[in-house]
Amino acid sequence: MTAIPDVVIVGAGTAGAAAALHCARAGLATVCLDRRPLGEAGARWVNGVPAWAFDETDLPRPVRPELRGDGAPFHLVVGWGPDRLTVDRHGVLEVDMRALTDRLQRLATAAGATFVGDARVTGFDGADRLDTTAGPFRARLAFVDASGLGGAGLLPSPTIPRADICAAAQYVHDLADRDAANAFLARFGAAGGEAVCFTGVAGGYSIVNVRVHGDDVSILTGSIPALGHASGARLHADFVAAHPFVGPARFGGARPIPLARPHARLASARVALLGDAGSQVFPAHGSGIAAQLVGARLLADALSAGEGPLGYQRRWQRAWGGLFAAYGVFRRFSETLSPEDLGALVAAGLLDPDGARAGMAQRWPRPDLTHLARLARAAARYPGAARRLAPVLARMALAPAIYRAFPRDPARVPAWDRVASRVLDRPTA
Ligand SMILES: Cc1cc2nc3c(=O)[nH]c(=O)nc-3n(C[C@H](O)[C@H](O)[C@H](O)COP(=O)(O)OP(=O)(O)OC[C@H]3O[C@@H](n4cnc5c(N)ncnc54)[C@H](O)[C@@H]3O)c2cc1C
Repeated sequence: MTAIPDVVIVGAGTAGAAAALHCARAGLATVCLDRRPLGEAGARWVNGVPAWAFDETDLPRPVRPELRGDGAPFHLVVGWGPDRLTVDRHGVLEVDMRALTDRLQRLATAAGATFVGDARVTGFDGADRLDTTAGPFRARLAFVDASGLGGAGLLPSPTIPRADICAAAQYVHDLADRDAANAFLARFGAAGGEAVCFTGVAGGYSIVNVRVHGDDVSILTGSIPALGHASGARLHADFVAAHPFVGPARFGGARPIPLARPHARLASARVALLGDAGSQVFPAHGSGIAAQLVGARLLADALSAGEGPLGYQRRWQRAWGGLFAAYGVFRRFSETLSPEDLGALVAAGLLDPDGARAGMAQRWPRPDLTHLARLARAAARYPGAARRLAPVLARMALAPAIYRAFPRDPARVPAWDRVASRVLDRPTA
């Protein structure tokens, strides 16, 4: 009879493949399965991933062709312009997710993990037996649900409200007319390789982010349709139709992204949620990859330390939950902003390159004294904008303390979550 593995992971996308890699490296017998063929698992487009997420999880940074851009200036344009601010030194890499998923799967296989493609979950008894189209699986220590939003559902989780779902699209196109593309970029002070990101074009949260790179045009769009706005797919189609320098699409995709606060209950005694399945997405711009890479590492550390899935839940919430919840408060505020509001915040200096850089890198802003003094002067000059921002920043500041108190006892998590929700999930006026 085949030995029962320590860990069975559902989903071989970035979250599942990273978990398989770290579990196998930690010496755990690991099986990772996916309902799709393995070469088609996970995201199939280009994502921005902060370089630190690779460094902190002992993964070599991507190189070409997986790496498609490495931190060139990012021009954040208010509405369709002309006001903008430019963020450099943000450290966000443009990564071809097809290649990253493939690399993670290959590294995990080399470390001893077993991958099974075309294996769809058909049932789970909640503890010991996972049924799939490739037969039943058992696990000695844990089952990991890394099957994405609306995936296998190994652990009962709250439904994510539609107002907390971003509809995003990302496609890489042929460049059809270089001169016209250069003229377009020049209007926003940008050069080839740099991102021009129109923000607030379909609700305060929305973006249309365009990058001309070599012979490609890369377009990322996202919005929250439940708030009455065009979807990311619509924004993408409209931009392409209006800009003939964009040629046929080469690859990419469109999908919903969960923006809600990461699930408070990320684990039971036998099951751990990882990635989109746990809503572990940096909400200010719907970015899930860094959270999954660090989450995969914490999961393997907790399992190999004998703390089980609940140890992982505690580690992740205490280390990362506060940051994600704080930026969730900011995300809700951003939804209320019109292009005029955004322009006022930029003009006042309350939304500045330092703050934007921290948000892009998924880090806490670390203002120095000069920066704080500049913000204070801006707040004094523009009291209206400051009055709107102050309560948002105050609630963001509470998030770390709330998450540092994440309970050890899983029975106390629902009560903790109710308190967290009262402070962190309220709509922002
Ligand atoms: C257009 C777009 C742009 C984005 N841009 C960024 C960005 O710039 N930066 C960033 O960090 N993030 C970005 N994101 C988010 C990021 O892509 C996701 O957070 C990430 O891909 C989710 O990975 P995952 O492994 O959790 O889930 P998935 O990628 O959904 O993988 C889950 C896997 O589980 C498998 N599966 C599902 N159900 C079952 C089942 N029942 N049985 C077996 N297998 C199953 C699926 O086949 C799939 O392969 C973007 C998302 C979109 C849609």
